[in-house]
Amino acid sequence: MNTTTAQLLAIVSVDSAQRVRCQNPGCGHSVYRAIHVVRDGGELLVLGSTCFAKRYGSAQALGSASHGGGTGRVLTEQERELLAHNTAELVARFEAEERRKAEEQAAFVAEIKARETHFVRMLTAPALPAAAARPPGLPGLGRAGVPHWPWMKPTASFGYFKLHDGSAWVRVLHQNGQHVLVPWPVFEGWDEALPGHLGRPDLDLGGYVLANVQAAVAYLQKLGQPCKVFGNWRELVAGTR
Ligand SMILES: [Zn+2]
Repeated sequence: MNTTTAQLLAIVSVDSAQRVRCQNPGCGHSVYRAIHVVRDGGELLVLGSTCFAKRYGSAQALGSASHGGGTGRVLTEQERELLAHNTAELVARFEAEERRKAEEQAAFVAEIKARETHFVRMLTAPALPAAAARPPGLPGLGRAGVPHWPWMKPTASFGYFKLHDGSAWVRVLHQNGQHVLVPWPVFEGWDEALPGHLGRPDLDLGGYVLANVQAAVAYLQKLGQPCKVFGNWRELVAGTR
């Protein structure tokens, strides 16, 4: 037998009263434990463990099963019906199950990462009393002339938006060419302050990566004063003091 095109999909079990037939040509024994589901060429085969080992050379010939962890998990009655009569559907279910598990895992990892980012942001945010002691509009500011955002393009201009509600935003050019709108000073809930079509909040950058700069400018100017453009950091600091 050619083992290079064969793939061990799952090892399953059924209740001994509900045995299924081994599909190895010439066998036909009924089997219930360590049933091997194999994709061989274009065909799906349900094989007893003895026939599997005979057919492919050994019990380990095809490595471990792609689905179900190869633990010989016991099928439900419905799954057993599929195994006997519609193996393809059973395999499709295994695959869907794996996909769902992978998605759940990915969502879990993303959630952990988001929490971590949030936590780091809280730790690195300027302490409140210090922020209050600074001139209004300038929290977190180091020496004038020192770029506040490590990712920004140092030679680019800034757009400053002061809104009627008292909040303010700075449009900063990222080194990667994207325009980032940073709440300045940072306020609680900034990442939910703008409509989604303008851009997406990036918690690592601490601002919105703008999808449409013109639309964002128009939106902000409607809510506040006309945009002030500053040629460099020092001007921005002086002009917004
Ligand atoms: Zn057999």
